[in-house]
Amino acid sequence: MNLNPDEYRAVLDHATARSMEWIDSIPSRRVAPFANVDEMKKVFGHPLQHAPMDAVAVVDELATLAGPGLMAMPSGRFFGWVIGGTLPAALGADVLVSSWDQNAAMRYASPATAAIEEVAGEWLVDLLGLPAGSDVGFTTGATMGNWTCLAAARASVLDAVGWDVNTRGLQGAPVVTVIAGAERHASVDLALRYLGLGLPTVVDADAQGRIVASSLAEALEAISGPAIVVLQAGNLHSGAFDPMREAVALAHARGAWVHIDGAFGLWAAASPSLRGQLDGVETADSWATDAHKTLNVPYDCGVAIIARPGVARAALGAQTSYLIKDGEASDPYDVTPEMSRRARGVPVWAALRQLGRSGVVALVDGLVARARELAAGLSALPEVTVLNDVVFTQVSLYFGSDERTRAVTAALIADGAVWMSGSKWQGHDILRISVSNWATDADDVAFAVAAVGRAIASVDSVR
Ligand SMILES: *Cc1c(COP(=O)(O)O)cnc(C)c1O
Repeated sequence: MNLNPDEYRAVLDHATARSMEWIDSIPSRRVAPFANVDEMKKVFGHPLQHAPMDAVAVVDELATLAGPGLMAMPSGRFFGWVIGGTLPAALGADVLVSSWDQNAAMRYASPATAAIEEVAGEWLVDLLGLPAGSDVGFTTGATMGNWTCLAAARASVLDAVGWDVNTRGLQGAPVVTVIAGAERHASVDLALRYLGLGLPTVVDADAQGRIVASSLAEALEAISGPAIVVLQAGNLHSGAFDPMREAVALAHARGAWVHIDGAFGLWAAASPSLRGQLDGVETADSWATDAHKTLNVPYDCGVAIIARPGVARAALGAQTSYLIKDGEASDPYDVTPEMSRRARGVPVWAALRQLGRSGVVALVDGLVARARELAAGLSALPEVTVLNDVVFTQVSLYFGSDERTRAVTAALIADGAVWMSGSKWQGHDILRISVSNWATDADDVAFAVAAVGRAIASVDSVR
């Protein structure tokens, strides 16, 4: 018996209607959730019943029960961590990807998704000004994007000294030195841990969190053997970019592979007015970025870009009898850790198609403009200091003391009308803003400044 399309029609119609209830609520809804995890566990946490349940009723129950425990992350008033919203075309494409239910592993098995992802990858490489012909893999996020690139790096630098890590592993292998800046993202350490490379050798960062080139030069001089240097495009707290051209040249002179973690910041390379800050970015060997942050596609979608031909496939590809090749080209599974996966590159294609070249530039420039407006508006409030040079989408705020900063952060989160993240940077408690949502506009900026003003007033009134 084949599937009955009507059963899907009823569920999808219902899911669309319930999705629209959620989307309609976002402009006026407070950003913070109304219920915590324990409350949600009470709602969902009963034993699985014995009898089957109607599919429409399942979707209905899910939408109704989950509502209070959802954070309005797609809201233009959400500024937490580095989390983007969703462009309409990207959301629509993501729904199609689920309906198509393609296993995107093989070109031979799913020609449409393979072609769409290849084109999306070429567009990305072009927009970011990276070397044409680079291998592109779509991963769950930048964590696995970093992992994918560093797996290729590990294989390549070991191969250069005659060690085949694919067959021999790391047991008895020459030591690979990995060098990274003091303010690298935690996911770099995770990726290195998963690769058996341990913690990196850490070099100094400056006041904006950028790697200090002279310290990198010293670190490179002190080592011998295979080496990998990890740079950063977009510091979590300042948005700052490492000095790419100089750092890459130093590393390459020493024969090191250079990887750039540009989870959100690599997108600055697409903007003519921002690209100067990443001068030389294209001279590296690999780059990781996210599409679910700056590009505003739904979760989850990261990107691994590897310039050196064939290296990704040699490190990550599999050869078996049942994985049938369609020509010489690399298959999706050759350049990412997964075999089976959803066609997560398709929403990237849709987002880029909706925006066009000019729209990508406007998206990135708009996020930066909103960040600068927020910094200007917030620094006019009593005893508020903007700690970073606002060169991209991130703004780090200090409220005179660690204690007052923590109190304002707590008051803001309790208020819930907007969401920003508390963090620690360079030894101090801070409140951090990330403007990552395409929908954030001037009204949201004014709304957010007013919300922080309210939080300050409530804290100061009880001091
Ligand atoms: C978010 C982020 C990551 C990790 O990306 P995920 O998509 O969460 O896996 C890595 N590096 C930087 C700089 C980030 O901002």
